[in-house]
Amino acid sequence: MGINIALDGPSGAGKSTIARLAAKKLGYLYVDTGAMYRAIAYHMLSIGTDISDEAEVSKGLEGLKVSLKHSDGVQSVLVNDEDVSDKIRTNEVSMAASCVSKYSDVRAFLLDTQRTLAKENNVIMDGRDIGTVVLPDANVKIFLTASAQERANRRFKELQEKGDTHTYEEILADINERDYNDSHREIAPLKQAEDATLIDSTSLSVDEVVDKITELAAKADTKEVKKNEHKHHHRELIPLRPITKTHRINPIRQLLYTIVRVIVRFIFKCWYDLSYEGLENVPRDGGNIFASNHRSYGDPVFIALMTRVPISYMAKEELFKQNIFFTWLIRFWGAFPVVRGTGDTAVIDTSIEKLEMGRNLVIFPEGTRSRDGKVGKGKTGVALVAAVAQTKVIPVGINFDGNKLHRGTKVVVRYGKPIYPSELGVDDTSSQNLKKLKKEIMNSITDLVH
Ligand code: C5P
Repeated sequence: MGINIALDGPSGAGKSTIARLAAKKLGYLYVDTGAMYRAIAYHMLSIGTDISDEAEVSKGLEGLKVSLKHSDGVQSVLVNDEDVSDKIRTNEVSMAASCVSKYSDVRAFLLDTQRTLAKENNVIMDGRDIGTVVLPDANVKIFLTASAQERANRRFKELQEKGDTHTYEEILADINERDYNDSHREIAPLKQAEDATLIDSTSLSVDEVVDKITELAAKADTKEVKKNEHKHHHRELIPLRPITKTHRINPIRQLLYTIVRVIVRFIFKCWYDLSYEGLENVPRDGGNIFASNHRSYGDPVFIALMTRVPISYMAKEELFKQNIFFTWLIRFWGAFPVVRGTGDTAVIDTSIEKLEMGRNLVIFPEGTRSRDGKVGKGKTGVALVAAVAQTKVIPVGINFDGNKLHRGTKVVVRYGKPIYPSELGVDDTSSQNLKKLKKEIMNSITDLVH
């Protein structure tokens, strides 16, 4: 598959000008999907189809061929091999395109051609539904917009140069009508894809927008190359960064933490039937890893109630998008976000940083919560952090019956004997060593769950 850039946005946002220039700069193929809808609309008008009649339009598609031709960077659109590029830019065709594009047969008719072009080439494809429907996996998605007045103004000037006599007010009304049609139709309406970058071009020059897009494309290109390299090469060893000395936690923070911990412990002990075992295994200092099975959102709290220094733990990025109070709460308790798919190095860097700060790092190797209480296989991430940091891992087993915590639930938290990577001969991050360390950690956790 080529690199795919999806460029969506309302009529007159400047998509085609921008896409054409960006494609030239990048050496990509420019695919103007609007021209394809226009070509169909033009064809329907020229054969006298009543375009407000969906069934009649569907009939008109039979035996029709719409294709794009590219030569010297110039795109032409062909209807049954006739080049109609010069005939599809009138206001009449614009309005007709906006009308026929809401029919499912018309959209399905063009979808295959559009996807095939993207599969076989590096493309920048512009339209309304490229990032959402046609190329949902595009490497870069952009939603280009501008105020309706600015868009009408641009189109007014463009049409005036061609000797068109429409007034500014008429053009603005048409733009508003097309915006409404495009964003309110049932199939593939115009809307920004969740992962698209929004660019408002109202006060940006064409060059500024083109530069932004080429920058995003360059980043996507590097990412693609890295992804392929990763696929083809074995993982290199990650250099060790043993935790030899940890910083002291800021005394005020430590004091505040201790006060909160004592209060929360009191509340938790009143609320649940909570007990601890193996407290002799809990180190008094920081810079250690606690690896635990994962049963509930309360787990980091259960673990931290018996550790003297604050903990840090990885949490899904999504949890930081909840309400402000919740986000503040989990941050206070030591949560830091992990963005999925960013690769090992970023997570390792943050983990080592936390350990060096003198915190204890809590990791749930299973990744997700286990509903039935059984300990899963676990991922190697925990072993990787422990191996790089060369620090001890304290296994933790969190036990309660059922799959939800209630008032009075009997909860037993067990801390196991620390595991030292060096004692297992784990002195690098080879996959063999990581497997060995992970196995030891998971076995110990399993032993604590019963
Ligand atoms: O982009 P352009 O103004 O040339 O598009 C003409 C019409 O084609 C639009 O008003 C829109 O209704 C339709 N269109 C679409 N989906 C696309 C591209 C264009 O519905 N991907």
